[in-house]
Amino acid sequence: MRKNYFINLFKLASLFCVLNLFNLPLKSSSALAAWALKSNGVLELRTKSDAKLKAYFQKANKLYGDRFWVDFKGELSNPRTIKGNGPIKEIRLGKPKRGLTRLVIEFAANKKINPHNWKLIGIDKNNWRIKLAPFPRNSFQTISEGNFLSSNKFKKRSDYFVNFKNNSSLANLPNVKKNKFYVVIDPGHGGPDSGAIGIGGLRETDVVLDVSKIVTNILNKKGVKVKMTRTNEIDLDLRPRVSMANDTNADIFVSIHANASVGKKRNINGLETFYYSGWKGRLLAEKIQKQIVKVSPGSPDRGVRRGSYFVLKQTNMPAALVEIGFVTGRLDGSRLSKDMHRERVAYSIARGILEYLERMG
Ligand code: ZN
Repeated sequence: MRKNYFINLFKLASLFCVLNLFNLPLKSSSALAAWALKSNGVLELRTKSDAKLKAYFQKANKLYGDRFWVDFKGELSNPRTIKGNGPIKEIRLGKPKRGLTRLVIEFAANKKINPHNWKLIGIDKNNWRIKLAPFPRNSFQTISEGNFLSSNKFKKRSDYFVNFKNNSSLANLPNVKKNKFYVVIDPGHGGPDSGAIGIGGLRETDVVLDVSKIVTNILNKKGVKVKMTRTNEIDLDLRPRVSMANDTNADIFVSIHANASVGKKRNINGLETFYYSGWKGRLLAEKIQKQIVKVSPGSPDRGVRRGSYFVLKQTNMPAALVEIGFVTGRLDGSRLSKDMHRERVAYSIARGILEYLERMG
């Protein structure tokens, strides 16, 4: 078994060298070595070893159709455009700035693209794969450059969610009447109270403050007034959090937390949202829970529950407390340490809130 493995590796390595000599599609300084957009909608990428990739999606605007792109370190020597077919308008390889290579896939107009669950998966040191939109089978022909030598040994090493460029994501959120609603967002803990401490020292207080700020930002842009109970690392008791909402007649109160398991068990992950009483509080919790689960595939849905937390019990308006994952969990913890995931979580909480407000009219 072991011997075979080495022989295969050797074969692969020598083949790789030969192909590289004669068929290097892109200047070697770019981390992108080869790519193929297959007729089943799967984009395959071959890169330098351990390349760090970033993937983005932006909704159509006046200039372009919906676009998905991946950024790679290093520049390519010959920026170019390749004509697409079917739902693919064109593919561009460019250098948006020094030291960066960008592979852009632009979709044809009027294609309904929903990239919220798209995931760029690193399958080994050099190979990546992402399934773009469920297009009907063979609705276009494979477009590719360069060669692949994907090993048969499927060893998943990492995955990245697609990042949304701001204006695109906002356009996709429900619209509520401008300047009508007022929400209090409560980032849990703060100051000397760091909340849960997770893997690698990941602190709940930092994660939830970051997420809360993004939620606030998104809601503001959608015309919802928001007050945060804290905007930095201060020591804040539970009582003033509640009175801020009660004294100012907030429409809803949303407290954002991250979980920790007893004994910091790495195999415990999951998302849950609490309310204390009333159908409105429950509905708010349900709307939020439904959305956060969507952006955290693989992490257990622990559901919507009743919880007699002080901030839920003492607030006069519909209130929910969301636990966005376990900082002590292997899956949740590593995700919550990444900006991209925090953005997705924030976006999903904002969506849940907006859906609730939209329903309340
Ligand atoms: Zn907490």
